[in-house]
Amino acid sequence: MDVTGTKAARVLDGVAIAAEIKAEVAVQVRVLRASGITPGLVVVLVGEVPASAIYVRSKVKTCAELGIYSEMITPPETVTTDEMLRIIADLNARDDVDGILIQLPLPKHVNTKRLLEAVAPEKDVDGFHPVNAGRLQAGQTGLAPCTPAGILEILRRSAIDVAGKSAVVVGRSDIVGKPAAMMLLNASATVTVCHSRTQDLARYTRDADILVAAIGRPGFVTKDMVKPGAVLIDVGINRLTDAAEVERFFPGDEARLEGFQRRGSTVVGDIDPEAFAVAGAYTPVPGGVGALTIAMLMQNTVTAARLRRQLDSNLDPDRAR
Ligand code: NAP
Repeated sequence: MDVTGTKAARVLDGVAIAAEIKAEVAVQVRVLRASGITPGLVVVLVGEVPASAIYVRSKVKTCAELGIYSEMITPPETVTTDEMLRIIADLNARDDVDGILIQLPLPKHVNTKRLLEAVAPEKDVDGFHPVNAGRLQAGQTGLAPCTPAGILEILRRSAIDVAGKSAVVVGRSDIVGKPAAMMLLNASATVTVCHSRTQDLARYTRDADILVAAIGRPGFVTKDMVKPGAVLIDVGINRLTDAAEVERFFPGDEARLEGFQRRGSTVVGDIDPEAFAVAGAYTPVPGGVGALTIAMLMQNTVTAARLRRQLDSNLDPDRAR
């Protein structure tokens, strides 16, 4: 309780949960390696996109930490769809490759949808292939998109009951909103999906016991839009470079302001940090959902290695989902 008699919101620490998952994946890798199987991930990074290069480097580094073999293929910016299709066909055919990840975004002249559909579903560690989307919808074991899978892990590992709860997902992208809604439904929540055409959005968000914001707009969900005591899952990663905006979202937050001055930017989620004060629990930005994505990719790579060899007898179906 704070001085006003209000119970402080619980912080759902994505970094700690990610560390827990990575430690478990490392054990699974050791078991596989002991039987002669080294899970392998290949990341295809096209051209020079600094943000993508940073993500890919941390994926490769995490593979090394966990004992997963990794490889980077770096076609030039000028690569054609046909050349990419040949690269993917080679990776589909390689027995030492369990996971194939095409780092997005791709250059505009490349047909992203065709490429994602060319990845063999059993090696689709991003979970973007329509076959894996279908498996998720059917509640079958498959490879699920990493960010929404991370959301479910945060809820599960924080012992937050989902069954019977009212869950509202704002955002309906194929990579976050839709699969997050499907996973929450599979976990027996009563799910509402909102989007840019939703009328009177606050009417829905205020009803949410669990509110997932995957919108891509800084601080879009405000305090008056959330139910007191709700669980707030903030997927948004929005970079702020304007000092006035940083001051508006983080008034009096010395550490945040100091970091902003040092780096010239800071990130805020899709939920106004002011709303966290009335929540029962929330994922911070950074250090919440974002921290889970690479851990879930590592888990998917190991799951893919096991599923491909039909070593799935010990698989936890909830985690494979
Ligand atoms: P996206 O593809 O741009 O989708 C945004 C969704 O928000 C759309 O469904 C859109 O509705 C909805 N939306 C936009 N404006 C709205 C409004 N005014 N009211 C209600 N809904 C609105 O974005 P995304 O890829 O899902 O990503 C969402 C956020 O999550 C971004 O900040 C992104 O950076 C972050 N993200 C984080 C991770 C991670 O943590 N690792 C991974 C992926 C994404 P319509 O469909 O009607 O346009």
